[in-house]
Amino acid sequence: LIENNAKPIWHPMAHPAEMRAQPPRIIMKGDGVHVTDIDGRRVIDAVGGLWNVNLGYSCDPIKRAIADQLDALPYYSGFRGTSTGPSIELAYELTEWFKPEGMVRAFLTSGGSDSVETALRLARQYWKIKGQSDRTKFLALKKGYHGTHFGGASVNGNANFRRNYEPLLPGVFHIPAPWTYRNPFNETDPAKLAQLCASAMEDEIAFQGADTIAAFIMEPVLGAGGVIVPPDSFMTLVREICDRHGILMIADEVVTGFGRTGAWSGSGLWDVKPDMMTIAKAITSGYFPLGATMIGDKVAEAFEADSTGFGSIGHGYTYSGHPVGCAAGIAALAETKRLRLDENAAARGKELATALEGLKSKHVLVGDVRCKGLMAAIELVADRDSKKVIDKKLIARIADATYESGVMIRVSGNNIILSPPLILLAADVATIVQGIDAGLSAAT
Ligand code: PMP
Repeated sequence: LIENNAKPIWHPMAHPAEMRAQPPRIIMKGDGVHVTDIDGRRVIDAVGGLWNVNLGYSCDPIKRAIADQLDALPYYSGFRGTSTGPSIELAYELTEWFKPEGMVRAFLTSGGSDSVETALRLARQYWKIKGQSDRTKFLALKKGYHGTHFGGASVNGNANFRRNYEPLLPGVFHIPAPWTYRNPFNETDPAKLAQLCASAMEDEIAFQGADTIAAFIMEPVLGAGGVIVPPDSFMTLVREICDRHGILMIADEVVTGFGRTGAWSGSGLWDVKPDMMTIAKAITSGYFPLGATMIGDKVAEAFEADSTGFGSIGHGYTYSGHPVGCAAGIAALAETKRLRLDENAAARGKELATALEGLKSKHVLVGDVRCKGLMAAIELVADRDSKKVIDKKLIARIADATYESGVMIRVSGNNIILSPPLILLAADVATIVQGIDAGLSAAT
């Protein structure tokens, strides 16, 4: 396995030669919040797989639900009007879950990128039904991440994720992210920054013409872009702007859904009702690839009332509503609710934030610490005044040294990203921070 790691596997997000040059990290087992690699080293998984293994690696109810469903019916297509028991039950549970956000339907997909693609397509269809087929453009936030399909890649706010694939979807425009640590206005006051970003959005809408814009998409807390936590007022301001101009609002909750931020949804955290929500990842706690596009009242009603023909959804996936995935999802949601993982994320998140702040006085490289629930980023800088980012090789050394200290972290740009399972204990928080502390000391 070690010999072949980077030969048949074309690793995403990495140059093949770079992958071959570094010692492979091959994970063989998982238990609770830990994973064990091919050398038998057991580390705490502070990445939670990839923001998704909220219930850890030993969740028996999910494993049993998968095994039982495999026995009963391993697959049937949810594509052309057929359903299965689990697909109906999961869709019902999801509409119950996101009722406070106004969601009334679930379009089942195979993952986050599919969910984003579906939402963008439904937004275009919505406006055709409404007889406003000029509304084709999309607005999004700089630093936002929305997956890898062409629509999602087009609305991604990081040029690095767009430039290799251009030309992308035309008519996508990005608004500055409300990020206090770095923003084009040099504004550090959160409320003022929220206003400035909202004004930039208004300016863009005025310039483009509101009646050309289909939808605005944002993550309630920006994940892959470096855990950027918008000021409390921002999402409400965006909702008001979208309402004023009739623009649909899509909340990309692929990371923030199901308790990660300390609330059951990111929109709920800010008390906002979007028109659609995209979800995936923790929906099955990582035990099966699955996602959904949640559809609110306004969009659902337009499709229900459609007489133009545009409302028949010419779109779906072979694995839409996969019964095994849906069974895993039903069990994962029940466990997530039973264990009140939202509350645990909020409580452990506070402890994590305090402990990570403590690293600032010890390590000059720590420029900024950002946390919301159990989403966290440590931004590493070569110099705190200029905020110059640290060398790529140094951050890779820090990640390796942290792993040697027993903690798996993720690196994204000059950030260490943490998204541990939500079943985390207070003692695990301490272990993670001690590991990062040791990693920073060993590598610098
Ligand atoms: N949206 C967001 C906010 C994400 O973070 C991701 C994945 N990290 C996606 C969409 C894409 O999800 P997937 O990788 O399941 O396709």
